[in-house]
Amino acid sequence: MDDKTRKRIGEIGGEAVGYDVPMSRYTTLGVGGNAEAVFKAETLEGLREMVGFLTGEGIDYLVVGRGSNLLVGDYGLDGVVIMLNQGLTSIEVQAGEEPWVKAGAGVALNTLVNFCAESGLSGLEFLAGIPGSLGGAVAMNAGAWGKEIKDVITEITILTGEGSVVSKGRGELAFRYRELDLPQGSIILDGSLGLRRDRPASAKKRMISYRNDRKNSQPIDVKSAGSVFRNPEGDYAGRLIEAAGLKGRRVGGAMISPKHANFIVNTGGASASDIEALMGLAVDTVRELFGVTLIPEIRRVGRP
Ligand SMILES: Cc1cc2nc3c(=O)[nH]c(=O)nc-3n(C[C@H](O)[C@H](O)[C@H](O)COP(=O)(O)OP(=O)(O)OC[C@H]3O[C@@H](n4cnc5c(N)ncnc54)[C@H](O)[C@@H]3O)c2cc1C
Repeated sequence: MDDKTRKRIGEIGGEAVGYDVPMSRYTTLGVGGNAEAVFKAETLEGLREMVGFLTGEGIDYLVVGRGSNLLVGDYGLDGVVIMLNQGLTSIEVQAGEEPWVKAGAGVALNTLVNFCAESGLSGLEFLAGIPGSLGGAVAMNAGAWGKEIKDVITEITILTGEGSVVSKGRGELAFRYRELDLPQGSIILDGSLGLRRDRPASAKKRMISYRNDRKNSQPIDVKSAGSVFRNPEGDYAGRLIEAAGLKGRRVGGAMISPKHANFIVNTGGASASDIEALMGLAVDTVRELFGVTLIPEIRRVGRP
């Protein structure tokens, strides 16, 4: 990015722009080199202006929610990281027979799940404990305990790379396992979720139960990006990695979690290449022993 572009990005974003920012600060794995620029979007207008400029100039941008599914490479990222964890965080409830909630993409899932349970709105408890944003959860079709966010989404609003704000109903959304097809450059602005009425105490009880199950089975107190690999059809990536004898295997500061083999944790000072080396080891060993090719679920971004 040349000096003129950096200057223009600063003029558009003001104090919300930072340059040469370590992505280890903004990812739950705590690894990753510098982003050329980071823009913390607080309003739709500001976001629109920035995206319009970047698209017009052909500058790459990457939207980041809570960075809980990202592996940023050690050599950093070209272009601008657009962060949505500080703005676009409103929550609006529609009461009645068929209640729904509409929330900004930047809302933390845990905030949303708590809010709904407290308000006697049930349907999102399965997301309790996933440390992402609503936008990230929709983009990833996040799921747990046999449910996915696609089961509750009724509509989303997106900002296209060309600057249009477009609503898309559930029928227009092509969700797949941990994926949603969106036009290139689209940013999810908000999502509406269809819920059911329940007693707050019952919804909270379910939410706590899901959280406890997670605590018992996953290393949630250590830096990670959740499940590293997708589950192959009819099996579990964690089962295969464990059966390959790789639990506890380390490269540098990264380790295949002894608690859950599909988690790679940063035990302190890990680099992205340590994590990539362990991923490569898991892929090679599982393929050799069981003939199954593991596909990453975490998204690797940045320079190779
Ligand atoms: C301890 C732990 C447990 C986890 N458990 C689960 C689990 O049970 N189930 C599960 O599915 N995941 C799980 N995850 C992974 C992760 O939390 C989810 O995928 C989450 O939904 C990602 O949200 P995020 O805001 O952090 O997205 P990010 O990591 O910031 O981004 C992920 C992807 O979504 C895109 N994106 C983010 N926001 C937007 C937006 N507004 N518009 C367009 N694209 C966007 C990004 O560009 C990127 O490609 C876990 C992670 C951790 C660390």
